[in-house]
Amino acid sequence: MRIVMKFGGASVKDGESIAHCASLVRKYAKDNEIVVVVSAMAGITDSLQHAAQKCFSEQASGFIKLFIAELTRKHYEAAKIAVKDSTVRDKVLNKIDRLLDELEKVLLGISYLGELTRRSEDYILSFGERLLAPIFSGALMSIGVESVALSGGDAGIITDRNFGRAKPLPEIYSIIRSRLEPLITLKKIVPVITGFIGVTEDGSITTLGRGGSDLTATLLAAALSANEVWLWKEVDGVMTTDPKIVPEARLIPEISYQEAMELSHFGAKILHPRALEPVMRRRIPVRIKNTFNPDGEGTVIKESSNSVEDIVKALSLIERVGIINISGAGFDFAEIMADVFERLAEYKVNVIMVSQSSSELNLSIVVDESDLEKAERVLKYLENGIVKVSNVRDVAVISAVGAGMAGTPGVAGRIFSALGRNKINVIMISQSCSEYNVSFAVSKTDGRRAVKVLHDEFGLSKKDVGQVSASLSLR
Ligand code: ASP
Ligand code: MG
Repeated sequence: MRIVMKFGGASVKDGESIAHCASLVRKYAKDNEIVVVVSAMAGITDSLQHAAQKCFSEQASGFIKLFIAELTRKHYEAAKIAVKDSTVRDKVLNKIDRLLDELEKVLLGISYLGELTRRSEDYILSFGERLLAPIFSGALMSIGVESVALSGGDAGIITDRNFGRAKPLPEIYSIIRSRLEPLITLKKIVPVITGFIGVTEDGSITTLGRGGSDLTATLLAAALSANEVWLWKEVDGVMTTDPKIVPEARLIPEISYQEAMELSHFGAKILHPRALEPVMRRRIPVRIKNTFNPDGEGTVIKESSNSVEDIVKALSLIERVGIINISGAGFDFAEIMADVFERLAEYKVNVIMVSQSSSELNLSIVVDESDLEKAERVLKYLENGIVKVSNVRDVAVISAVGAGMAGTPGVAGRIFSALGRNKINVIMISQSCSEYNVSFAVSKTDGRRAVKVLHDEFGLSKKDVGQVSASLSLR
């Protein structure tokens, strides 16, 4: 088999965990062709983003010294433990030094100039992945697996210039193939590729959006016609809901692309919402696997094979959201709608859910709590005596997802009757024509209880499936 494996976040949090992940690669590389994608070590991308902002807003040379020292310490420690061969390790430490030198200069430049462009921000964010790839690759070489560390750009991930959310160009598939195919088939080398980052045609580093290393993995898999993508995590797979809310939550062995996308959009941290695009058309399955339970089957995301029993398959909860209400939009409704969404996009407000009632000409938009004030501010200009813009705080959104809902009558009825019986008031409802998902908003204090009620109502706790060892966290 040809498998693209992605390691990231907590599964590569220190030297031991990196060494462990490298040993997993060695195990599977015996009988398979493996391409590895790494994201940054846990917490590093966040710290880079914070550093960029800090250097932009103040003279920060003292901070920069400490920050670089801390990054050096973390990556040195990881390399010392994970890269066992001393000749390889020296090379890796050397590489870390050169990268952090470069980063220090960039941060100083930003601090002196007080200028941070989206291009330089992407450049700064790229360091997390660029630091980990040589360590991971060195760890593989130390245990006898031939390997080379490559940047996303080296591997052929060429993108447009939309820094912060760059889109891969359509022609990259053949470029990726021509660059990686000889390594993996002829030379039997395991490439370790930086996830999340790409490069423009003229050589500037771009990023694919936070969490984008999943997308790197699926792009590579599509280009290389891989048999599967494995996203390694510290949990067994996708759960019916967050076990912290419902302890009886269980592992879902199989889920369709569509369902996984709906769940990711509604708060379940399964994978980057755009990551499934490259593999869907080619029907390449994506498997979520647990580094602590590598022989478990995990969850497979693949073309739908849903049974009618899977009416509601999973429930997600987003707890920190608010609602923007635009009322009285009258006869200009379509125009106002267009305006609203254009402005929200311009100000980078992430829209989670929308609902419109035609009788009262009312439009309700659920956004992240952190975006609520901004959203209200940028939409205030619509107010004219008739049109009013207001907000509702302390809201939670619950989303019930399952392809079996499509065409099954009475699902919405069951959802809302169960809530009604339990005296949970529903503030807003939305279901699109795909019918894969019914989402609704309740007061924040009712959120968790609503999830429990529905988990019970649809018998999600009862089905007997494998052992669940850890949870999939919801945001
Ligand atoms: N390291 C990047 C991030 O934290 C990319 C990723 O994790 O996939 O967003
Ligand atoms: Mg990350």
